[in-house]
Amino acid sequence: MDQAIVQDVVSEVMRRLGGRFGGDGASRGGVRAGETAPAEEPKRREALAHPHTVDYPAGQYGIFDKVEDAVAAATESQKKLAKLSLQDRDSIVKLIKAMAKENAREWGKMELDETKIGRLDHKIEKLQILELVPGVEFLRTDAYSGSNGVCLEEFAPFGVIGIITPVTHSVPTLSANAINMIASGNALVANPHPSGTRCAAHAVREYNKAIVQRYGIEHLITCILPPTLETAEALFQHRGVPLLVVTGGPQVARAALAAKKRAIVAGPGNPPVVVDETACLDNAAASIVKGAAYDNNLLCIGEKEVFCVESVFGTLMSKMGQNGAFVLTSEQIERLTKAAFKPGTDGKLHVNKDFVGRDASVLGGAAGVRVPPTVSLLVGETKFDHVFVQEEQMMPFVPFVRVKTVEEAMDRAIEAEHGYRHTALIHSRNVNTISKFGRRANVTLLVANGPSMAGLGLGGQGYLSYSIATPTGEGITTPLTFTRVRRVMMSGAMRMV
Ligand code: NAD
Repeated sequence: MDQAIVQDVVSEVMRRLGGRFGGDGASRGGVRAGETAPAEEPKRREALAHPHTVDYPAGQYGIFDKVEDAVAAATESQKKLAKLSLQDRDSIVKLIKAMAKENAREWGKMELDETKIGRLDHKIEKLQILELVPGVEFLRTDAYSGSNGVCLEEFAPFGVIGIITPVTHSVPTLSANAINMIASGNALVANPHPSGTRCAAHAVREYNKAIVQRYGIEHLITCILPPTLETAEALFQHRGVPLLVVTGGPQVARAALAAKKRAIVAGPGNPPVVVDETACLDNAAASIVKGAAYDNNLLCIGEKEVFCVESVFGTLMSKMGQNGAFVLTSEQIERLTKAAFKPGTDGKLHVNKDFVGRDASVLGGAAGVRVPPTVSLLVGETKFDHVFVQEEQMMPFVPFVRVKTVEEAMDRAIEAEHGYRHTALIHSRNVNTISKFGRRANVTLLVANGPSMAGLGLGGQGYLSYSIATPTGEGITTPLTFTRVRRVMMSGAMRMV
């Protein structure tokens, strides 16, 4: 093992063990292994609050403090990109992928240190697998040839695309968007989540430094610092930005859909899992643990609630325990619920952000139980109307609801998905049941007999993107998503046969 790996492993183990030694190693007030000492904390907080004034000067390598300046710089850079060959674009895309992979450990740690949500091993992996994001090879020209000549349909860029990225995968979403959008000839202006800004800005600077060195383009990917709701609104309104791509929760999805320009919206989900009596329960349990524990259940596609038929419910629960999950009692679930949800001014319960993306040991502490550090997921039986079933919790506790039949499981699953049309999962050996659920759920991503990440190419077939356009219907985004279709007609000529 090289020294960096040893250091990461030690940091991660310290972080997970923290909860066992009285203090909460992952707590917001505490100091994690690898973090700055208390004396340096004010300086670090200042740096996080005003990253652009500390070491990211505006106007260099894609960093801007005004939307107007960022759009102007991106517009100039896009014009330069348009003059390069397709092979050059391919090289830029490959450069971004290689840099993300090379820096995955450092950038993943930076993102975890800043956002304080998720898991280091998965933050690193989410950057390493960016090589699964498609590039220029997706831009295949369609050609029609006949007695009247030749017709070509090609994919033209929009120009400058405005993107909004979530705190759950700040650098991965920015990087995957950049790969797709540059492959199709666009430049970007990013308004990242305020809590995942520093890591995003760092990646933007590094990408631009490398691109300007080889291609003389300094601001192909731009980033607003500091990002605010006002800068997001300015981006939504800017006439030089013909397309918005928004990845986030219900509020920003609604805001983008109300914008007076085209928006591709990768919105929220609440992925249900159906388990029927024909399922391979060993595989179902292992898959649910793998998917729901991934980055502490921050993925929008991650398993959020399970509906299992009662004839196999007990067996599935015991297999969950055998696969690294910890089963909570109903009293422990209620203690956890009181901590993990808070009443809002609307009188409804809302997710307590202090628990989003935290380790299973932290959730266990709130439930009043000390879970072993090897446990990555908590589970337990609840009723259908439980808040953990109904809300997109984004934390490693998954409620299991007992149902009489697979029909009831499907009905409940579809209800819990709330019409987001995002992701649903099923474990069954009955092809008819899988087909029926697929048709009825009508989601963007249906995963059968595997963990949720298989749906994005991690252990499954297919390509990756961190922006899955749900209400607007573009699906798992690719370079083609960010193009205009342009037809070229050569009338009465060019037919060679
Ligand atoms: P969030 O909605 O809190 O923030 C997302 C982004 O939107 C941030 O950059 C935030 O600053 C911005 N934002 C929020 N309200 C806004 C408004 N009114 N106007 C303009 N900008 C606004 O979400 P999050 O916690 O960062 O991410 C988690 C959410 O994102 C979950 O709901 C998850 O399902 C969803 N998500 C979806 C996908 C997908 O591909 N469909 C991918 C990742 C995350």
